[in-house]
Amino acid sequence: IKTIGVLTSGGDAPGMNAAIRGVVRSGISESLVMYGIYDGYLGLYNDKMVILDRYSVSDIINKGGTFLGSARFSGFLDEKKRLIAINNMKKKNIDALIIIGGDGSYSGALCLTKMNFPCICIPSTIDNDISGTDYTIGYSTALETIVQAIDRLRDTSSSHQRITIIEVMGRNCGDLTISAAIAGGCEFVILPELPYNKQELLDTIQCGIKNGKKHAIIVVTEYMCNTFQLAKYIENKTGRETRATILGHLQRGGSPVAYDRILASRMGAYSIELLLSGYKQHCIGIKNEKLIHYKIQDALTNIEKSSKYQLLKVAQKLY
Ligand code: ATP
Repeated sequence: IKTIGVLTSGGDAPGMNAAIRGVVRSGISESLVMYGIYDGYLGLYNDKMVILDRYSVSDIINKGGTFLGSARFSGFLDEKKRLIAINNMKKKNIDALIIIGGDGSYSGALCLTKMNFPCICIPSTIDNDISGTDYTIGYSTALETIVQAIDRLRDTSSSHQRITIIEVMGRNCGDLTISAAIAGGCEFVILPELPYNKQELLDTIQCGIKNGKKHAIIVVTEYMCNTFQLAKYIENKTGRETRATILGHLQRGGSPVAYDRILASRMGAYSIELLLSGYKQHCIGIKNEKLIHYKIQDALTNIEKSSKYQLLKVAQKLY
């Protein structure tokens, strides 16, 4: 292997830049030629690739987003379009690809490996929803952002004796929600992994009011319900002003926290090591602070996600 491409794909996450830097500088230290591909799989198809030197990735370790850009490109599901993408890489003598992204991006990489193009995936999504790894790059930063938002909302909720519902990202994974709820000292959590009971929610709020609590903060994962309707329902039932706040894309931006920068740098360097050791269809994870690798296929189908929803018991004790 002499030439390697790197791209970021799917939803952006803080730390993607640090991961690109880790990949590029480790590759250059092994005398490899490094290509950056713009806009994920779309750029691969449109032939938007440039050679990166060590200075191309200067001053980005602390920046959110991804300087290579990211895209959602449904055209990549079409094998003919993937063949064009592979031919674009072959024209530049690119021998392997490093993909930094979430599980959708892993599916794209798996398709490329089935067409005999070597790929290594680095897990990066704020959702922390990739099987086989304790953490994904971007999760810790997003968690910090959410907790800061909860702290601010708590101030104003207490001042006005208000109930606040905060909707956070995570798709089908409640890791951000449960962790933010514990760190933010919230009163109730609604997670995709476990059913919740509306009466229990009301009882918890009412009990808090009876005990003199000035606020109630409820955290809910996106897509679980219509958060505005839930706020109306609670307001009607409790007689207390209830507001919904949807944090939205705020959660995806910002300078990565140190943990994400270190994770991204380690995983970036490890991806080059794996390719040079002959791995062609693998992804990287972290387990008990040790880097590991396993098949992309296993991440998508065979390994169960070790969710943090068990932490709900802790949250419930502290309500
Ligand atoms: P996040 O979890 O942050 O949303 P993601 O990587 O899961 O990130 P997706 O939009 O699901 O984001 O996937 C990124 C891209 O990967 C898609 O836009 C598409 O180009 C490609 N992709 C996804 N699924 C497949 C598939 N089954 N076959 C080929 N390519 C795919």
